[in-house]
Amino acid sequence: MDNFTYTGLPARVVFGCGTIDQIAHELNALAVERALVFSTPQQAEQAQGILEKLGKKGVGLFAEATMHTPVDVTERAMSHVVQLDVDGIVSFGGGSTIGLGKAIALRTDLPQLVVPTTYAGSEMTPIIGQTEDGLKTTQKTRKVLPETVIYDVNFTLSLPPVMSVTSGLNAIAHAVEALYAENANPVLSLMAEEGIGALVGALPEITKNPTDADARSKALYGAWLCAVCLGSGGVALHHKLCHVLGGSFNLPHAETHTVVLPHALAYNAPEVPDAMDRLRRAMNTEMPAAALFDIAKNGDAPTSLQSLGMPQQELGHAVEVALKNPYFNPRRLEAGALLTLLEHAFEGRRPSC
Ligand code: NAD
Repeated sequence: MDNFTYTGLPARVVFGCGTIDQIAHELNALAVERALVFSTPQQAEQAQGILEKLGKKGVGLFAEATMHTPVDVTERAMSHVVQLDVDGIVSFGGGSTIGLGKAIALRTDLPQLVVPTTYAGSEMTPIIGQTEDGLKTTQKTRKVLPETVIYDVNFTLSLPPVMSVTSGLNAIAHAVEALYAENANPVLSLMAEEGIGALVGALPEITKNPTDADARSKALYGAWLCAVCLGSGGVALHHKLCHVLGGSFNLPHAETHTVVLPHALAYNAPEVPDAMDRLRRAMNTEMPAAALFDIAKNGDAPTSLQSLGMPQQELGHAVEVALKNPYFNPRRLEAGALLTLLEHAFEGRRPSC
């Protein structure tokens, strides 16, 4: 076995159906007496229900979380934190809400209890992206890593089927790249394989029946493991391309991951035979990249950059930006081959591996 380094990140995880009932107990364990609940406006009603569950420990709801963690929203939330003398944060929602909670933790060191309702995985990472004056900057610091995560499958039942597929493929992307990242190691590969297998099995079932509790449980379990891969592992070409397409061309987060992943994997496949073996095993298919494309297509999720509004004439520019400050990648990054990759993604071609 080759030498390796594994970094485990501390987090307490409570997983299951109806686990939200343990929230007061979990806040006690964090010694939180005055919690502020965060959500998006769309999830305010459910978040209000959570606030009520907290009884005396819940001092307010701030339901203005939005995409890309804009600093002006964080500042408004900070004034509530100060005025209400808050000593803990409850983030209820997807990556946007969790991002707001992290932004407050970055400024205050307050403990965070997170209740994720998508599969994006921010709850398991020490990563925060913030936007100011249209510029998104990302940093990695343990200060933003949530202390406790309550995964309650019941809250994922309302995630619309197409969003479940795009969010699930976003999660799978974290695990796929952990299999061949610079710091890939056998422990994370175990989690990646298990996480991918669980999500790949569950997503088609969720497409058929979005309230299938068993499929939803498997998907959320898989999303958690994939999130650990993002938090403790590394990323490569796929995440670089998604960051470029999201950052420079404003393409939507989960949908961009959905479209790009099969093509980024096909690009790297010849150089990562061990990762491909694991994927074939996890996904029970000889053609993992094509199978990922099929999950998106069969789930009515986008399969082309064209459908996301990417201007075709900008594909070359996207390659230039990606090559300016590249991440580690197992296959050499060549401009011509990358342009072909993006052209295939633009057209929505099914990969052949
Ligand atoms: P999101 O949080 O933006 O949610 C999208 C919409 O879906 C929102 O309106 C939300 O209220 C709604 N929603 C969420 N869960 C729902 C549910 N169960 N039922 C019905 N509606 C629901 O989407 P996301 O994909 O989870 O997060 C994307 C953001 O997270 C991006 O900004 C991305 O950069 C960030 N992110 C960060 C990390 C990290 O480690 N820092 C990791 C992954 C994603």
